[in-house]
Amino acid sequence: MRYVIVGGVAGGATAAARLRRIDEKAEIILFEKGQNISYANCGLPYYIGGVIKERENLFVQTPEKFGRLLNLDVRVQSEVLSIDRSDKQIRVREANGREYSEHYDKLLLSPGALPFVPPLPGVDSPGVFTLRNVEDTDAIKSYLDTHKVKRAIVVGGGFIGLEMAENLHARGIAVNVIEMAPQVMAPVDFSMATIVHAHLQEKGIGLYLGKAVKSIEKRGEVLTASLDSGEKIEAELILLSIGVRPNTKLAADAQLAIGPARGIRVNEYLQTSDPDIYAIGDAIEYPHPLTGKPWTNFLAGPANRQGRIVADNMHGQTLRSYEGAIGTAIAKIFDLTVAATGLPAKALKREGLPYESVTVQPNSHAGYYPNAYPLTLKITFHPESGMLYGAQCVGIEGVDKRIDSIAQIIKRKGGIADLMQTEQAYAPPFSSAKDPVALAGYVAD
Ligand code: FAD
Repeated sequence: MRYVIVGGVAGGATAAARLRRIDEKAEIILFEKGQNISYANCGLPYYIGGVIKERENLFVQTPEKFGRLLNLDVRVQSEVLSIDRSDKQIRVREANGREYSEHYDKLLLSPGALPFVPPLPGVDSPGVFTLRNVEDTDAIKSYLDTHKVKRAIVVGGGFIGLEMAENLHARGIAVNVIEMAPQVMAPVDFSMATIVHAHLQEKGIGLYLGKAVKSIEKRGEVLTASLDSGEKIEAELILLSIGVRPNTKLAADAQLAIGPARGIRVNEYLQTSDPDIYAIGDAIEYPHPLTGKPWTNFLAGPANRQGRIVADNMHGQTLRSYEGAIGTAIAKIFDLTVAATGLPAKALKREGLPYESVTVQPNSHAGYYPNAYPLTLKITFHPESGMLYGAQCVGIEGVDKRIDSIAQIIKRKGGIADLMQTEQAYAPPFSSAKDPVALAGYVAD
Protein backbone atom coordinates (compact mmCIF):
# COMPACT_ATOMS: atom_id res chain seq x y z
CA MET A 1 0.00 0.00 0.00
CA ARG A 2 1.30 3.47 -0.85
CA TYR A 3 0.11 6.38 1.28
CA VAL A 4 0.85 9.88 0.06
CA ILE A 5 0.48 12.86 2.40
CA VAL A 6 0.41 16.52 1.38
CA GLY A 7 1.55 18.87 4.17
CA GLY A 8 4.12 17.92 6.79
CA VAL A 9 3.25 19.94 9.87
CA ALA A 10 0.51 19.41 12.49
CA GLY A 11 -1.97 17.08 10.79
CA GLY A 12 0.24 15.57 8.08
CA ALA A 13 3.17 14.64 10.34
CA THR A 14 0.85 13.11 12.96
CA ALA A 15 -0.92 11.01 10.34
CA ALA A 16 2.41 9.83 8.90
CA ALA A 17 3.67 8.72 12.32
CA ARG A 18 0.43 6.93 13.14
CA LEU A 19 0.31 5.21 9.75
CA ARG A 20 3.77 3.83 10.31
CA ARG A 21 2.79 2.52 13.75
CA ILE A 22 -0.20 0.63 12.41
CA ASP A 23 1.36 -0.50 9.13
CA GLU A 24 4.99 -1.53 9.27
CA LYS A 25 5.22 -2.43 5.60
CA ALA A 26 3.43 0.45 3.90
CA GLU A 27 5.20 2.95 1.70
CA ILE A 28 4.55 6.42 3.13
CA ILE A 29 5.57 9.56 1.25
CA LEU A 30 5.23 12.96 2.91
CA PHE A 31 5.34 16.04 0.67
CA GLU A 32 6.00 19.45 2.20
CA LYS A 33 6.25 22.65 0.20
CA GLY A 34 8.41 24.43 2.81
CA GLN A 35 11.82 23.50 4.14
CA ASN A 36 10.63 22.18 7.48
CA ILE A 37 8.20 19.62 8.81
CA SER A 38 6.59 19.11 12.18
CA TYR A 39 7.51 22.52 13.60
CA ALA A 40 5.86 24.49 16.36
CA ASN A 41 3.59 26.96 14.52
CA CYS A 42 2.19 28.04 17.83
CA GLY A 43 5.63 29.02 19.12
CA LEU A 44 6.49 31.37 16.23
CA PRO A 45 5.35 34.64 17.93
CA TYR A 46 7.44 33.75 21.00
CA TYR A 47 10.55 33.17 18.92
CA ILE A 48 10.08 36.60 17.30
CA GLY A 49 9.68 38.14 20.77
CA GLY A 50 12.78 36.39 22.12
CA VAL A 51 10.93 34.26 24.69
CA ILE A 52 12.00 31.18 22.73
CA LYS A 53 15.67 31.94 22.25
CA GLU A 54 16.91 29.19 19.96
CA ARG A 55 15.49 28.81 16.45
CA GLU A 56 16.15 25.08 16.53
CA ASN A 57 13.76 24.72 19.48
CA LEU A 58 10.91 25.42 17.05
CA PHE A 59 11.53 22.18 15.26
CA VAL A 60 9.94 19.16 16.84
CA GLN A 61 11.64 17.01 14.18
CA THR A 62 13.97 17.56 11.25
CA PRO A 63 12.88 15.98 7.94
CA GLU A 64 15.91 13.65 7.99
CA LYS A 65 15.40 12.46 11.57
CA PHE A 66 11.66 12.03 11.15
CA GLY A 67 12.16 10.03 7.96
CA ARG A 68 14.87 7.84 9.48
CA LEU A 69 13.05 7.26 12.75
CA LEU A 70 9.80 6.13 11.15
CA ASN A 71 11.05 4.87 7.83
CA LEU A 72 9.17 7.54 5.90
CA ASP A 73 10.01 9.09 2.56
CA VAL A 74 9.99 12.78 3.53
CA ARG A 75 10.30 15.21 0.62
CA VAL A 76 10.59 18.85 1.64
CA GLN A 77 10.63 21.79 -0.76
CA SER A 78 8.28 19.68 -2.85
CA GLU A 79 4.99 21.31 -3.74
CA VAL A 80 2.11 19.13 -4.85
CA LEU A 81 0.68 20.97 -7.83
CA SER A 82 -2.29 18.85 -8.85
CA ILE A 83 -4.15 15.61 -8.37
CA ASP A 84 -5.15 13.35 -11.25
CA ARG A 85 -7.89 11.31 -9.62
CA SER A 86 -8.55 9.03 -12.59
CA ASP A 87 -4.94 7.74 -12.61
CA LYS A 88 -4.39 8.24 -8.86
CA GLN A 89 -1.34 10.40 -9.52
CA ILE A 90 -0.13 13.65 -8.07
CA ARG A 91 2.14 16.14 -9.82
CA VAL A 92 5.03 17.49 -7.74
CA ARG A 93 7.41 20.40 -8.25
CA GLU A 94 10.73 20.56 -6.43
CA ALA A 95 12.39 23.84 -5.44
CA ASN A 96 14.84 23.46 -8.36
CA GLY A 97 11.90 23.47 -10.79
CA ARG A 98 11.98 19.73 -11.58
CA GLU A 99 8.49 18.28 -11.95
CA TYR A 100 7.42 14.65 -11.71
CA SER A 101 4.37 12.50 -10.99
CA GLU A 102 3.85 10.05 -8.17
CA HIS A 103 1.22 7.37 -7.72
CA TYR A 104 -0.93 6.99 -4.59
CA ASP A 105 -3.25 4.29 -3.31
CA LYS A 106 -4.59 6.56 -0.54
CA LEU A 107 -3.99 10.30 -0.48
CA LEU A 108 -4.20 12.61 2.54
CA LEU A 109 -4.50 16.38 2.23
CA SER A 110 -3.33 18.42 5.22
CA PRO A 111 -2.31 21.65 3.46
CA GLY A 112 -3.43 23.98 6.27
CA ALA A 113 -4.77 27.50 5.82
CA LEU A 114 -3.60 30.64 4.04
CA PRO A 115 -3.45 34.07 5.65
CA PHE A 116 -6.01 36.46 4.27
CA VAL A 117 -4.39 39.48 2.64
CA PRO A 118 -6.90 42.22 1.73
CA PRO A 119 -6.39 43.80 -1.67
CA LEU A 120 -5.46 47.23 -0.27
CA PRO A 121 -3.18 49.76 -1.93
CA GLY A 122 0.36 49.37 -0.56
CA VAL A 123 -0.28 46.02 1.09
CA ASP A 124 2.73 44.51 -0.70
CA SER A 125 5.17 47.19 0.54
CA PRO A 126 8.41 45.97 2.14
CA GLY A 127 7.88 45.89 5.89
CA VAL A 128 4.31 44.51 5.63
CA PHE A 129 4.11 40.88 6.76
CA THR A 130 1.82 37.98 7.52
CA LEU A 131 2.80 35.19 9.92
CA ARG A 132 2.01 31.59 9.08
CA ASN A 133 5.20 29.56 8.92
CA VAL A 134 8.92 29.48 9.64
CA GLU A 135 9.76 31.34 6.41
CA ASP A 136 7.46 34.24 7.47
CA THR A 137 9.01 34.16 10.93
CA ASP A 138 12.55 34.36 9.56
CA ALA A 139 11.53 37.25 7.31
CA ILE A 140 9.95 39.21 10.19
CA LYS A 141 12.85 38.51 12.55
CA SER A 142 15.46 39.48 9.98
CA TYR A 143 13.56 42.71 9.19
CA LEU A 144 13.44 43.54 12.88
CA ASP A 145 17.15 42.78 13.24
CA THR A 146 18.22 44.86 10.24
CA HIS A 147 15.85 47.85 10.41
CA LYS A 148 15.24 50.41 13.10
CA VAL A 149 11.72 49.34 13.99
CA LYS A 150 10.45 51.57 16.77
CA ARG A 151 6.75 51.35 15.96
CA ALA A 152 4.62 48.48 14.69
CA ILE A 153 1.02 48.10 13.64
CA VAL A 154 -0.82 44.84 14.09
CA VAL A 155 -3.90 44.70 11.89
CA GLY A 156 -6.36 42.26 13.49
CA GLY A 157 -6.94 41.67 17.20
CA GLY A 158 -7.32 37.89 17.17
CA PHE A 159 -5.25 35.38 19.12
CA ILE A 160 -2.20 35.52 16.85
CA GLY A 161 -2.40 39.31 16.37
CA LEU A 162 -2.42 39.91 20.11
CA GLU A 163 0.33 37.36 20.78
CA MET A 164 2.40 39.24 18.23
CA ALA A 165 1.50 42.62 19.79
CA GLU A 166 2.85 41.34 23.10
CA ASN A 167 6.00 39.89 21.54
CA LEU A 168 6.78 43.02 19.50
CA HIS A 169 6.22 45.08 22.65
CA ALA A 170 8.69 42.77 24.44
CA ARG A 171 11.31 43.89 21.91
CA GLY A 172 10.78 47.50 22.97
CA ILE A 173 8.56 48.38 20.02
CA ALA A 174 5.53 50.68 20.40
CA VAL A 175 2.54 48.73 19.09
CA ASN A 176 -0.85 49.85 17.78
CA VAL A 177 -3.56 47.25 17.16
CA ILE A 178 -6.21 48.04 14.56
CA GLU A 179 -9.34 45.91 14.65
CA MET A 180 -12.37 46.31 12.42
CA ALA A 181 -14.77 44.77 14.95
CA PRO A 182 -15.67 46.71 18.10
CA GLN A 183 -13.67 44.20 20.17
CA VAL A 184 -10.56 42.03 20.11
CA MET A 185 -10.65 38.22 20.51
CA ALA A 186 -13.67 37.26 18.42
CA PRO A 187 -14.43 33.99 20.30
CA VAL A 188 -15.40 35.89 23.48
CA ASP A 189 -18.30 38.24 24.09
CA PHE A 190 -17.81 42.01 24.21
CA SER A 191 -18.19 42.12 28.01
CA MET A 192 -15.22 39.74 28.37
CA ALA A 193 -13.18 41.48 25.68
CA THR A 194 -13.42 44.79 27.56
CA ILE A 195 -11.19 43.27 30.28
CA VAL A 196 -8.62 42.56 27.58
CA HIS A 197 -8.99 46.08 26.12
CA ALA A 198 -8.24 47.64 29.51
CA HIS A 199 -5.25 45.37 30.03
CA LEU A 200 -3.78 46.11 26.60
CA GLN A 201 -4.13 49.84 27.21
CA GLU A 202 -2.55 49.47 30.64
CA LYS A 203 0.43 47.83 28.94
CA GLY A 204 0.75 50.74 26.53
CA ILE A 205 -0.71 49.08 23.42
CA GLY A 206 -2.68 51.51 21.26
CA LEU A 207 -6.14 50.19 20.34
CA TYR A 208 -8.14 51.29 17.33
CA LEU A 209 -11.39 49.38 17.55
CA GLY A 210 -14.17 49.44 14.97
CA LYS A 211 -11.71 50.85 12.43
CA ALA A 212 -10.37 49.40 9.21
CA VAL A 213 -7.15 50.02 7.28
CA LYS A 214 -7.96 51.46 3.86
CA SER A 215 -4.45 51.81 2.44
CA ILE A 216 -0.77 51.62 3.29
CA GLU A 217 1.87 53.99 1.99
CA LYS A 218 5.62 53.61 2.31
CA ARG A 219 7.97 56.61 2.33
CA GLY A 220 11.56 55.83 3.19
CA GLU A 221 11.46 53.54 6.20
CA VAL A 222 8.05 54.76 7.37
CA LEU A 223 4.80 52.96 6.59
CA THR A 224 1.60 54.94 7.00
CA ALA A 225 -1.69 53.11 7.48
CA SER A 226 -4.74 55.21 6.60
CA LEU A 227 -7.90 54.19 8.44
CA ASP A 228 -11.50 54.54 7.33
CA SER A 229 -11.95 56.99 10.21
CA GLY A 230 -9.53 59.36 8.49
CA GLU A 231 -6.77 58.70 11.04
CA LYS A 232 -3.23 57.95 9.86
CA ILE A 233 -0.86 55.80 11.88
CA GLU A 234 2.85 55.49 11.24
CA ALA A 235 5.10 52.50 11.84
CA GLU A 236 8.19 50.81 10.51
CA LEU A 237 6.54 47.37 10.43
CA ILE A 238 2.98 46.21 9.81
CA LEU A 239 1.72 42.73 10.58
CA LEU A 240 -1.49 41.67 8.87
CA SER A 241 -3.28 39.18 11.08
CA ILE A 242 -6.79 39.37 9.72
CA GLY A 243 -7.56 35.70 9.68
CA VAL A 244 -6.97 32.69 7.50
CA ARG A 245 -8.83 30.75 4.82
CA PRO A 246 -8.77 26.97 4.32
CA ASN A 247 -6.19 26.06 1.69
CA THR A 248 -8.49 24.30 -0.75
CA LYS A 249 -6.87 24.95 -4.13
CA LEU A 250 -5.56 21.41 -4.70
CA ALA A 251 -8.89 19.90 -3.66
CA ALA A 252 -11.01 22.34 -5.64
CA ASP A 253 -8.90 21.93 -8.79
CA ALA A 254 -9.40 18.17 -8.46
CA GLN A 255 -13.17 18.76 -8.21
CA LEU A 256 -13.40 17.49 -4.65
CA ALA A 257 -16.44 18.88 -2.83
CA ILE A 258 -15.93 22.21 -1.05
CA GLY A 259 -18.59 23.08 1.53
CA PRO A 260 -20.46 26.25 2.49
CA ALA A 261 -17.83 27.24 5.08
CA ARG A 262 -15.27 27.18 2.23
CA GLY A 263 -13.42 24.16 3.64
CA ILE A 264 -12.85 20.76 2.03
CA ARG A 265 -15.98 18.70 2.77
CA VAL A 266 -15.30 15.42 4.58
CA ASN A 267 -17.47 12.71 6.12
CA GLU A 268 -17.17 11.39 9.67
CA TYR A 269 -14.18 9.28 8.57
CA LEU A 270 -12.48 12.43 7.25
CA GLN A 271 -12.90 11.15 3.72
CA THR A 272 -13.47 13.67 0.92
CA SER A 273 -15.96 13.21 -1.88
CA ASP A 274 -13.39 10.82 -3.40
CA PRO A 275 -13.17 7.67 -1.20
CA ASP A 276 -9.40 7.34 -1.76
CA ILE A 277 -8.66 10.93 -0.73
CA TYR A 278 -8.85 12.11 2.87
CA ALA A 279 -8.42 15.59 4.32
CA ILE A 280 -7.77 17.02 7.78
CA GLY A 281 -6.76 20.12 9.71
CA ASP A 282 -7.25 23.78 8.87
CA ALA A 283 -8.23 22.94 5.29
CA ILE A 284 -11.47 21.15 6.17
CA GLU A 285 -14.88 22.14 7.40
CA TYR A 286 -16.86 19.92 9.72
CA PRO A 287 -20.25 20.13 11.44
CA HIS A 288 -20.08 21.99 14.76
CA PRO A 289 -21.23 19.51 17.43
CA LEU A 290 -23.60 22.11 18.94
CA THR A 291 -25.11 23.80 15.88
CA GLY A 292 -24.75 20.94 13.41
CA LYS A 293 -23.59 23.51 10.85
CA PRO A 294 -20.28 23.14 9.01
CA TRP A 295 -17.55 25.40 10.29
CA THR A 296 -13.81 25.85 10.09
CA ASN A 297 -11.71 25.60 13.20
CA PHE A 298 -8.07 26.62 12.88
CA LEU A 299 -6.54 24.91 15.90
CA ALA A 300 -3.64 22.55 16.45
CA GLY A 301 -5.38 20.10 18.82
CA PRO A 302 -8.11 19.07 16.37
CA ALA A 303 -5.58 18.81 13.50
CA ASN A 304 -3.44 16.43 15.56
CA ARG A 305 -6.44 14.38 16.69
CA GLN A 306 -7.72 14.14 13.14
CA GLY A 307 -4.25 13.03 11.99
CA ARG A 308 -4.46 10.01 14.25
CA ILE A 309 -8.05 9.16 13.35
CA VAL A 310 -7.54 9.54 9.62
CA ALA A 311 -4.49 7.24 9.65
CA ASP A 312 -6.61 4.48 11.15
CA ASN A 313 -9.32 5.08 8.56
CA MET A 314 -6.90 5.15 5.63
CA HIS A 315 -5.42 1.89 6.84
CA GLY A 316 -8.96 0.57 7.10
CA GLN A 317 -8.69 -2.10 9.76
CA THR A 318 -10.38 -0.06 12.50
CA LEU A 319 -12.70 2.68 11.33
CA ARG A 320 -12.96 5.63 13.70
CA SER A 321 -15.25 8.59 13.36
CA TYR A 322 -14.30 12.16 14.18
CA GLU A 323 -16.55 13.82 16.74
CA GLY A 324 -15.97 17.45 15.73
CA ALA A 325 -14.48 20.33 17.68
CA ILE A 326 -16.17 23.06 19.68
CA GLY A 327 -13.31 25.57 19.34
CA THR A 328 -11.62 25.36 22.71
CA ALA A 329 -8.88 27.98 22.56
CA ILE A 330 -6.59 29.92 24.83
CA ALA A 331 -4.07 32.76 24.63
CA LYS A 332 -1.72 34.60 26.93
CA ILE A 333 -2.15 38.35 26.51
CA PHE A 334 0.53 39.96 28.67
CA ASP A 335 -0.47 39.09 32.27
CA LEU A 336 -3.91 37.85 31.26
CA THR A 337 -5.06 34.48 30.05
CA VAL A 338 -8.09 34.50 27.77
CA ALA A 339 -9.83 31.24 26.94
CA ALA A 340 -13.09 30.13 25.37
CA THR A 341 -14.94 26.98 24.48
CA GLY A 342 -18.21 26.35 22.65
CA LEU A 343 -20.56 29.15 21.69
CA PRO A 344 -20.50 32.67 23.16
CA ALA A 345 -23.73 34.66 23.52
CA LYS A 346 -23.13 36.60 20.31
CA ALA A 347 -22.86 33.36 18.29
CA LEU A 348 -26.04 32.01 19.90
CA LYS A 349 -27.82 35.24 19.04
CA ARG A 350 -26.61 34.96 15.45
CA GLU A 351 -27.82 31.34 15.31
CA GLY A 352 -31.20 32.31 16.77
CA LEU A 353 -30.80 29.81 19.61
CA PRO A 354 -32.48 30.57 22.95
CA TYR A 355 -29.90 30.97 25.72
CA GLU A 356 -29.17 32.40 29.10
CA SER A 357 -25.83 33.45 30.49
CA VAL A 358 -24.25 33.80 33.89
CA THR A 359 -21.03 35.61 34.75
CA VAL A 360 -19.18 35.03 38.03
CA GLN A 361 -16.08 36.78 39.34
CA PRO A 362 -14.56 34.64 42.08
CA ASN A 363 -10.91 34.49 43.05
CA SER A 364 -8.59 32.13 41.19
CA HIS A 365 -7.79 30.44 44.51
CA ALA A 366 -8.76 30.90 48.16
CA GLY A 367 -8.76 34.64 48.93
CA TYR A 368 -7.01 34.15 52.27
CA TYR A 369 -4.00 32.53 50.58
CA PRO A 370 -1.56 35.08 49.03
CA ASN A 371 -1.72 36.17 45.41
CA ALA A 372 -5.29 35.23 44.60
CA TYR A 373 -6.49 37.09 41.49
CA PRO A 374 -10.03 37.76 40.35
CA LEU A 375 -11.17 35.57 37.50
CA THR A 376 -14.15 36.30 35.25
CA LEU A 377 -16.06 33.25 34.03
CA LYS A 378 -19.08 33.48 31.75
CA ILE A 379 -21.18 30.51 30.75
CA THR A 380 -23.98 30.25 28.21
CA PHE A 381 -26.68 27.57 28.40
CA HIS A 382 -30.13 26.57 27.24
CA PRO A 383 -32.74 28.33 29.42
CA GLU A 384 -34.90 25.23 29.97
CA SER A 385 -32.73 22.15 29.68
CA GLY A 386 -29.66 23.82 31.19
CA MET A 387 -27.50 22.25 28.47
CA LEU A 388 -24.22 24.13 28.31
CA TYR A 389 -23.39 25.97 25.10
CA GLY A 390 -20.14 27.68 25.96
CA ALA A 391 -17.80 29.25 28.45
CA GLN A 392 -15.32 32.10 28.41
CA CYS A 393 -12.80 32.92 31.05
CA VAL A 394 -10.38 35.82 31.57
CA GLY A 395 -7.95 36.14 34.44
CA ILE A 396 -4.39 35.99 35.59
CA GLU A 397 -4.30 32.50 37.03
CA GLY A 398 -6.23 29.25 36.74
CA VAL A 399 -8.11 30.14 33.54
CA ASP A 400 -6.90 27.14 31.56
CA LYS A 401 -8.11 24.44 33.94
CA ARG A 402 -11.57 25.99 34.28
CA ILE A 403 -12.09 26.19 30.52
CA ASP A 404 -10.64 22.72 29.98
CA SER A 405 -12.98 21.11 32.49
CA ILE A 406 -16.05 22.92 31.11
CA ALA A 407 -15.03 21.97 27.55
CA GLN A 408 -15.21 18.30 28.50
CA ILE A 409 -18.74 18.78 29.86
CA ILE A 410 -19.86 20.62 26.72
CA LYS A 411 -18.39 17.93 24.48
CA ARG A 412 -20.47 15.34 26.33
CA LYS A 413 -23.56 17.59 25.91
CA GLY A 414 -23.67 18.11 29.66
CA GLY A 415 -25.34 20.96 31.51
CA ILE A 416 -25.57 23.07 34.64
CA ALA A 417 -25.97 19.99 36.86
CA ASP A 418 -22.61 18.71 35.60
CA LEU A 419 -20.95 22.01 36.49
CA MET A 420 -22.19 21.61 40.05
CA GLN A 421 -20.91 18.05 40.15
CA THR A 422 -17.42 18.72 38.83
CA GLU A 423 -14.76 17.50 41.15
CA GLN A 424 -11.76 19.82 41.23
CA ALA A 425 -8.57 19.22 43.16
CA TYR A 426 -8.59 21.76 45.97
CA ALA A 427 -6.08 23.22 48.40
CA PRO A 428 -5.88 26.98 49.13
CA PRO A 429 -3.02 27.77 46.68
CA PHE A 430 -4.96 26.21 43.78
CA SER A 431 -8.66 26.78 44.14
CA SER A 432 -11.51 27.26 46.61
CA ALA A 433 -13.69 24.61 48.16
CA LYS A 434 -16.38 26.17 45.96
CA ASP A 435 -14.46 26.19 42.69
CA PRO A 436 -15.37 28.86 40.06
CA VAL A 437 -16.72 26.12 37.76
CA ALA A 438 -19.10 24.81 40.43
CA LEU A 439 -19.94 28.38 41.44
CA ALA A 440 -21.05 29.20 37.89
CA GLY A 441 -23.31 26.14 38.08
CA TYR A 442 -24.77 27.18 41.46
CA VAL A 443 -25.57 30.67 40.18
CA ALA A 444 -27.14 29.32 36.98
CA ASP A 445 -29.18 26.66 38.84
P1 FAD B 1 -0.26 23.20 8.99
O1 FAD B 1 0.25 22.75 10.30
O2 FAD B 1 -0.27 24.67 8.72
O3 FAD B 1 0.51 22.46 7.84
C1 FAD B 1 0.20 22.62 6.49
C2 FAD B 1 1.46 22.42 5.68
O4 FAD B 1 1.10 22.06 4.35
C3 FAD B 1 2.30 23.68 5.54
O5 FAD B 1 3.60 23.47 6.06
C4 FAD B 1 2.35 23.96 4.04
O6 FAD B 1 3.60 24.43 3.59
C5 FAD B 1 2.05 22.59 3.46
N1 FAD B 1 1.45 22.65 2.12
C6 FAD B 1 0.38 23.39 1.74
N2 FAD B 1 0.10 23.15 0.43
C7 FAD B 1 1.01 22.26 0.00
C8 FAD B 1 1.25 21.64 -1.26
N3 FAD B 1 0.46 21.89 -2.32
N4 FAD B 1 2.28 20.78 -1.37
C9 FAD B 1 3.08 20.50 -0.29
N5 FAD B 1 2.90 21.06 0.91
C10 FAD B 1 1.87 21.92 1.06
N6 FAD B 1 -3.37 26.60 17.23
C11 FAD B 1 -3.64 26.32 18.53
O7 FAD B 1 -4.45 25.42 18.81
N7 FAD B 1 -3.03 27.01 19.54
C12 FAD B 1 -2.12 28.00 19.30
O8 FAD B 1 -1.57 28.59 20.24
C13 FAD B 1 -1.83 28.32 17.95
N8 FAD B 1 -0.96 29.31 17.66
C14 FAD B 1 -0.65 29.55 16.36
C15 FAD B 1 0.26 30.57 16.08
C16 FAD B 1 0.62 30.84 14.77
C17 FAD B 1 1.58 31.94 14.49
C18 FAD B 1 0.04 30.09 13.71
C19 FAD B 1 0.40 30.38 12.29
C20 FAD B 1 -0.90 29.10 13.97
C21 FAD B 1 -1.25 28.82 15.30
N9 FAD B 1 -2.18 27.83 15.62
C22 FAD B 1 -2.48 27.57 16.92
C23 FAD B 1 -2.89 27.08 14.55
C24 FAD B 1 -2.26 25.73 14.28
O9 FAD B 1 -0.90 25.88 14.05
C25 FAD B 1 -2.96 25.09 13.08
O10 FAD B 1 -4.32 24.95 13.38
C26 FAD B 1 -2.38 23.74 12.69
O11 FAD B 1 -1.01 23.83 12.40
C27 FAD B 1 -3.13 23.16 11.48
O12 FAD B 1 -2.54 21.98 11.04
P2 FAD B 1 -2.59 21.57 9.50
O13 FAD B 1 -1.87 20.27 9.39
O14 FAD B 1 -3.97 21.68 9.01
O15 FAD B 1 -1.78 22.72 8.76
